[in-house]
Amino acid sequence: MDEVICKYRQLRADVDRQVDSLYAIHAQHIRCRQQCTDCCMNLTVWPVEFFAIVEDVRAAGIRPVFDEAALCGFLKDDLCQIYSFRPIICRTHGLPLVYLDDRGDEPRHCVIFCQKNFTAPEADAIEFGPDNTLDMEEANQSLARLHTAYLESGGPAGRDEQGRMALSRLIEFL
Ligand code: SF4
Repeated sequence: MDEVICKYRQLRADVDRQVDSLYAIHAQHIRCRQQCTDCCMNLTVWPVEFFAIVEDVRAAGIRPVFDEAALCGFLKDDLCQIYSFRPIICRTHGLPLVYLDDRGDEPRHCVIFCQKNFTAPEADAIEFGPDNTLDMEEANQSLARLHTAYLESGGPAGRDEQGRMALSRLIEFL
């Protein structure tokens, strides 16, 4: 179980490296800044990510308060109270992300990003591809594999959490 949590942290660090690289590549087109909360919302995560965050937040001695009225309850003064340990999806906010769109007849990959980014006319000329985007299908598949491995290794001690968990429930465990 601890081994799976370690692998989750490795995946998180790997995503952070890719995110840093994308910020460098697209620096002139990214408007993301501290206290922009446009991408924040109350989330659900797999138990492996949930309990890794519980461990990390506990170890850091952070006692977040949950604001029911906020876009995400962990926002306080438009800052994330669990920023260092926020879920992987939060780390990718705003950047060009590749998803599989399977709503039409033919599934196809599409690139999405915050509409506040890539607004300059020259951004229209950017060709998005594997070198300047983050493949969220790959990241989500890695998370799904870790989820399965976590449950197979016993999951959270003494608990029967199998499905996605609201991040708001962190408060119960801190
Ligand atoms: S956990 Fe933090 S970064 Fe993620 S949605 Fe909530 S406030 Fe935003």
